[in-house]
Formats: sequence, C-alpha cells, structure tokens
Amino acid sequence: MKASTELILRHEIAGREDGPHVLVLAGVHGDEYEPMAACGELHARLAAQLQKGRITLVPNANPTAYVSTGRYGDDGLDMARICPGKPDGSSSERAAYELSGLIRSADYLIDLHTGGVMYDISPLAGYMLHENQAVLDIQREMAFAFDLPVVWGTDPLPQGRTLSVARDAGIPAIYLEYGGGTGFRPHVATAYVEGVLNVLRLWEMVPGAATRNNAGKQFWVEDIRPDSGFLQGKMPAPADGIFIAGTTLGTLVKKGERVGHILDPATGNSTQIQADADGLVFLLRQIVKVKKGEALGGILPISKPGSVTIGFDGIGKENNGRQPAFKNH
Ligand SMILES: [Zn+2]
Repeated sequence: MKASTELILRHEIAGREDGPHVLVLAGVHGDEYEPMAACGELHARLAAQLQKGRITLVPNANPTAYVSTGRYGDDGLDMARICPGKPDGSSSERAAYELSGLIRSADYLIDLHTGGVMYDISPLAGYMLHENQAVLDIQREMAFAFDLPVVWGTDPLPQGRTLSVARDAGIPAIYLEYGGGTGFRPHVATAYVEGVLNVLRLWEMVPGAATRNNAGKQFWVEDIRPDSGFLQGKMPAPADGIFIAGTTLGTLVKKGERVGHILDPATGNSTQIQADADGLVFLLRQIVKVKKGEALGGILPISKPGSVTIGFDGIGKENNGRQPAFKNH
C-alpha cells in the first residue's frame, strides 16, 4: 500500500512462503528508461511466479528526474550522489531519504541503470568491494547470475550512492549498466528481466535453476583503486568540440591507440584521443558536443575473458579465468 506521505511509488509482490526481501530499483536517473520497463515486466512475471519471499519494485526512484527528462531531479541533484538524503531537503534529497529507508528494509538490492542519454555502456553487473567477505561473496554471486559480459567490482568507499547505503547496512547489493543514448532498446529490458529472475533463482524464489550461458566468456575486473567505478571521471576530454569516436563498445585496444578525435568546428583543428590503458572499450559518449574535462568513454583494464584483480599499487593480475562457482550447482 502506498501511504500519502510516500514520494516514491513501489509495487510489492509476496510469495506463498517466507523468504528474502529483494528490492529492485529503476529510475534513480530519470533518463534511463529500459530499467523502468523491466520493472513493469517483472511485476507481471513475478505476480505469477514468485514462490517465496518478497519483491519490492520501484520503477521511478527519483520522480522529478523522470519528469525533467534527464538524469537529475528538478533541484539539479543526482540521486546517486546524495543518498541517504534528507527528510526535509529538496525533492531529490527527500526521495533519496525515503529510498534509503527502503534499502535498509531489504535483504538484497538490485539497482538497474543505463548510460542515460549521455553514454552507451557495455552490459555489466557491478558491485562495491566490501570488507565483509560474506557480503562480497553474495554480491559476486548476484553479479554473475545476471550473466552479462562484464562483471566489475570497484572502490568500496564512495558515498552518496544507493550502494553506499546498502554497504553501510551490510546488505548485498549490485547495480547494472547496459546501453544508453537516445531510443529504447527492448533487448536491454529483456536482459534485465531475465537477469533479475536468474538472481531470484539463487534463493529459490522463482522456479528453475540459475543458468549461466556466458560462463567462461565473461570479463571480470575487481579494482580497489579510489573512484575506479566513477564513470563520469573516465577519459576526460582534452579540448572543447565535437567528439568523433573511432572505436566501438566491446573493442579491445592498446594503450596509446587512437580511439577517436575532437574536432573544433570553428577552426577545423583536430585533437586526437588515445586509449589511456590496454583493455576493453566499455563506455562511449553519445552526446557529441563535449567540453574540456567531460568523460569521452572508458576502458576496462582487461584484455581477454577471465579475471583481473587490481590493488592499491595498480598492478593487475590475470587470474586465468577463475570465476566463482554457484552455490546451488
Ligand atoms: Zn544511472
């Protein structure tokens, strides 16, 4: 039931038996639409399929961001930077406060995103590295259950995210990224529906065994360096102008390789953009006009399927494809 004091619409589905409470979020950023559609599809599927436990679906976590047709709320705030919010703050702060309470009431968190209008991003399941090994292990298992090409564990310390609230409460949490730019990608919504259902199978909340069609083909990076998961800080533009990408998502590049250029339309000058690392192109800017310092894209420091662990010293270690086994196998 939605009380009149609630800012955020949520749909609750209860199974026949007791079990875990899983919270699924969409719309933390108002221009990420496939997750919102996935919530609708999940509502229909889970109403018929949920065997045990409880699901809370939030299709539109920051309502004024959706209304503004953009990433930010009508107060200009990014909900993924202001959690746990304020009960008496601006619209996004109040929504973040309510959302944070909801996160603390759950046993597991799944936060669905895309690159928004600004970025296109390779399909990935991410989590914050966690000091509690049991929480970390569950997060890895949830991330692999999404069965997307990239699994990415990052800096454990960021504040303000939904995942920060979950981390501080010891609640296993993952986030998802897939696609972006203009238009709607039905395959993204479908992948999110199937991914959530597969995670729920880990806890026997829906029928069937969790499947892993991409096992052995995934790129798995755990990178503990500060801000390793901060997308808007990747590959800052060296100049103002028009960004013309010279690569595509999923391409393996070498450090120094040309990945595009910035054209100044007034002078005709071009500034070449080179890869800042060996690895997989997983993020590319879609809004063509760029200002100096804005992110152009991102390269994940991994050069073949398998796993890489990066510590504070920044030295990567390829682990020859070692990936966690599912407990229910
Ligand atoms: Zn987002």
